[in-house]
Amino acid sequence: MGAYQHILLAVDFTPEVRMVTRKGRELAGQNGAKVSLVHVVEYSSSSYPADLAPPVALDLDDRLKKSAEVELKELAITHGFPDAKRYVELGVPKHEIVRIAEEKTVDLIIIGSHGRHGMQFLLGSTANGVLHLAKCDVLAVRMGGY
Ligand code: AMP
Repeated sequence: MGAYQHILLAVDFTPEVRMVTRKGRELAGQNGAKVSLVHVVEYSSSSYPADLAPPVALDLDDRLKKSAEVELKELAITHGFPDAKRYVELGVPKHEIVRIAEEKTVDLIIIGSHGRHGMQFLLGSTANGVLHLAKCDVLAVRMGGY
């Protein structure tokens, strides 16, 4: 049995996600590990303008989640994980990624060092947050010019 049995890939929908999925395939193969995918929809009813009626906001959440589910399914298939469990959550990415990792007994989270939140720091905000909050191992796949 390898060091890791359940690997969680944190995926946004940027082109660089392929670096996370490539590392996931490699480590899952080496460890004989199961792979799950998580994507967090960052907008939620709490961040909409106060005058947006709750049913409209909830409907918007629902539609954003459904469209992310379709996108995540396509990503799973095209990146070689047709049988992986997929989780689409609403909220703050670092919190939801860590929550899913704990709930699903993940022992390694793979994340990109940077995504859409800027390259000015050594680590992007999501990778940094996950590294601080996670109780399991975290692998930040180096991206960009560092
Ligand atoms: P960033 O914080 O945008 O620099 O993103 C760094 C990495 O965090 C990305 O390469 C992804 O692995 C992960 N990530 C960012 N946003 C999300 C999201 N909404 N859902 C899942 N993973 C994410």
